[in-house]
Amino acid sequence: MTKGMIQGHRRISGPSETPDGFPLPLSGRPLTKTPVVVRKAGVELKQYPETFIHGQEVLAEDEIRLTCLGSGNPFVRRAQAATGWLCELGNGDKFVFDVGGGTVQNLWSLEIHPALLDKLFLTHLHLDHVGDFHVLYDALGWARNSPLHVWGPSGYTQEMGTAHFCEMMDKAALWHDQSKIGIVPGEGMEIIAHEFDYGKLGPANPKMLVYDENGVQIYAFPTVHCIYGTVGYRLEWNGLSFSFHGDGSPSGIEADQAKGVDVFMHEVFLDAETFARKNNMPLQIAKNVVGEHTTGDRFGQLMEIVQPGLGVGYHYILDDDTVDAMYELLWKTSDIPMVLAQDLTVINITPEQIVTRQADSNLLHWTPPAPPNAPRGTVGARSDAKIPQWLVDSVVPPLD
Ligand SMILES: [Zn+2]
Ligand SMILES: [Zn+2]
Repeated sequence: MTKGMIQGHRRISGPSETPDGFPLPLSGRPLTKTPVVVRKAGVELKQYPETFIHGQEVLAEDEIRLTCLGSGNPFVRRAQAATGWLCELGNGDKFVFDVGGGTVQNLWSLEIHPALLDKLFLTHLHLDHVGDFHVLYDALGWARNSPLHVWGPSGYTQEMGTAHFCEMMDKAALWHDQSKIGIVPGEGMEIIAHEFDYGKLGPANPKMLVYDENGVQIYAFPTVHCIYGTVGYRLEWNGLSFSFHGDGSPSGIEADQAKGVDVFMHEVFLDAETFARKNNMPLQIAKNVVGEHTTGDRFGQLMEIVQPGLGVGYHYILDDDTVDAMYELLWKTSDIPMVLAQDLTVINITPEQIVTRQADSNLLHWTPPAPPNAPRGTVGARSDAKIPQWLVDSVVPPLD
């Protein structure tokens, strides 16, 4: 295949599709041959603009929208943040699932007010799933004047659980918080962990209800990934559902917990040979890494158990020559509709159809107006950790 420009840069000429007929990554089109999956025949289907722009589309009352905040892996790229997803429901609820490096940049670019983004669900504490935690937290004071709520599993020891992680992140932000109190409202400088007991999961009870509010149920279930204490989630609302599995080797238990969902969101990984070659990495190391993840053919095996309306793969290193390779592996085991996520891939779920598009977002975004009922917060006293007076006295006075 000839390249229009240097690989990975914006194309001005050259092929518009892969040899197997998929859009090229970054072309503005979703990496799928099934951008529309019709679930109810014989009814009038909602029509969507070709490109999604947040703020220009009203979500219907019976609709879910999923937006990929990060489709990549730990070695973040300008076009691929690490893992993260935004879920928006027609009732106004919003949830963030994982917050890997670079994901909050994509999140803010959608121009949603941070006060609406205070519910974070973590699948596990790998840094490519939590690396932007402080970036999300740092909406405090100027935008989110309420605590950040974080759900996640307990760990093998107390120190390896979600609550301890949140406590440490809070402590790490001490200087930051102290520097801002008395300047901006401080009510957002609080992290509330909702840790659930991973140890209570077992063969007889492989799922646990961890959130049940406003008609939304979110269940956690165990995944198989590296060590003790990793989970996926299944969200149920208004007769619609999706599951998000974080990372992991393909497991029958996670597949059972996702059975029949409208959208099944699972990682999909490069094969070890390609991973090693593309990353200039020793093959054995690549095999060790890939062994903790799910390749395209194994993704297809899970799809056959789950039988979703649409499968969504993320955590994949996109390139012009890796899209076909993933689908060729997938098609060995499944022909269920699938999309390979890019950053800002958007999926609308309604009872009638599942529609996948790419979003365009504002590279120079500002904070949008606060929702009418968002807390304004109060500005208290400054920190006792004052700058020494002799240094304050050195500030150059303004001209009259
Ligand atoms: Zn990961
Ligand atoms: Zn991981």
